[in-house]
Amino acid sequence: MSNIYLDNKIKSSCNGCGVCALICPQNCIKMIEDSEGFLYPEIDENKCIKCNKCRRLCSNNPISNEFSIQAYATKNKNNEQRKQSTSGGMFKILAEYVIERQGVVFGVEIMDDLKVVHDYAESMQECKKFSASKYVRSELNNSYRKVKEFLNQDRYVLFTGTPCQNEGLRKFLGKDSNKLILCEIICHANPSPKVFNMYIRNIENKTGKSVKMIYFRSKNAEMNNSSYIELKDGTKIADKLYNKAFSSKQLINRPSCYNCKFVDENRKADFTIGDFWGIENIFPDFNDNKGISLLTVNTSKAEKIFEEIKDKMDYKKVEIKKAFEKNHNSNVPINPHREIFFEKIAAGKINENNIIRYMKKYTRTALYKKVLNRVKNHNVLLKKE
Ligand SMILES: Cc1cc2nc3c(=O)[nH]c(=O)nc-3n(C[C@H](O)[C@H](O)[C@H](O)COP(=O)(O)OP(=O)(O)OC[C@H]3O[C@@H](n4cnc5c(N)ncnc54)[C@H](O)[C@@H]3O)c2cc1C
Ligand code: SF4
Ligand code: SF4
Ligand code: SF4
Repeated sequence: MSNIYLDNKIKSSCNGCGVCALICPQNCIKMIEDSEGFLYPEIDENKCIKCNKCRRLCSNNPISNEFSIQAYATKNKNNEQRKQSTSGGMFKILAEYVIERQGVVFGVEIMDDLKVVHDYAESMQECKKFSASKYVRSELNNSYRKVKEFLNQDRYVLFTGTPCQNEGLRKFLGKDSNKLILCEIICHANPSPKVFNMYIRNIENKTGKSVKMIYFRSKNAEMNNSSYIELKDGTKIADKLYNKAFSSKQLINRPSCYNCKFVDENRKADFTIGDFWGIENIFPDFNDNKGISLLTVNTSKAEKIFEEIKDKMDYKKVEIKKAFEKNHNSNVPINPHREIFFEKIAAGKINENNIIRYMKKYTRTALYKKVLNRVKNHNVLLKKE
């Protein structure tokens, strides 16, 4: 059976990059939102001339990278930049490289209406909006076309996003450019914008107040360095449930994320940036608990840039297998309640008045697992003593 969504209609085969719709010469593919809040392509068969361009360029079939990829544990020497970032502040160093060359930086921001979108910036001040992770699938809007426009003007462009969004851009452009820097975050999953929206509305219904902003993983000591929601009246509420549903319990993510083609250490963009999970075991002295990045340098273009930016960071080289030992090296497991959860959303049984209750229900850890975890932790402590 074909592994292309346009043929097999299996949702886990489509990451939603939208390239097929952009490159169709007949303009006969539309990206349509499904009941889970994710976009999928639909072909108007009456207009299709069967050229197969959409299938040939589908980003969900990445080719493997033969370059000898180098991995580093890193931290930005600029403490202010590092503090604004989710991990070690690598994004800001790459952004600075491009802005200093009068280039353009693409990244993901959360707007005042809490929509999560891709946009571009032409100064470091503007780039602040891209700082820190937003755990929602972003809307790409016309970013790919804009990247092409800026490259045609001979400007440097840094594109940051998920690996599948980077691969989509590469397929859309069709050729590389010395002035294009592709930077992918390590990404184990990406949640539904519809669920995120319903979640925010449910908080507003419960508190009777408008939500101003959500900080998915803050470095705010006052909020114990964890996620929180800020209401328009200034109140801050700690928030663990959304991250749990996205990250540890895998309830609300795009189907392609459970079958992701961008796992493990064979990285595809020029640079990959992520958290250095397990740093405390590999370089305990390097870890100051202020966020350490895993940076991989994946192409000869990136290798040259790394030589020019490395003075802006403290870094330690690490064997690539070791770097991914505790990070996204296999697909995340699907939550057994995911199907029923989204069926109830489609039927309107789960809505913005009760979604929090259902997210709690379907992310609860079974009692026997809690006991097992306690025993495991207890044994680890005994071993350390
Ligand atoms: C959905 C998601 C899942 C992730 N999963 C992992 C993981 O499994 N393992 C891991 O090591 N790291 C993961 N990360 C990446 C990590 O949290 C940091 O974003 C990354 O290390 C960059 O941090 P930084 O300190 O260099 O800069 P930061 O200032 O934190 O950089 C933010 C960067 O992330 C981009 N970004 C923010 N939100 C999104 C989004 N929704 N979609 C695409 N790009 C976005 C911005 O454009 C910017 O380039 C994930 C991030 C996201 C958004
Ligand atoms: S086969 Fe060609 S014309 Fe038909 S949808 Fe795909 S790209 Fe468009
Ligand atoms: S090109 Fe992108 S949107 Fe189109 S089918 Fe492939 S993964 Fe899905
Ligand atoms: S987990 Fe894979 S498919 Fe899902 S958003 Fe990340 S890179 Fe794309």
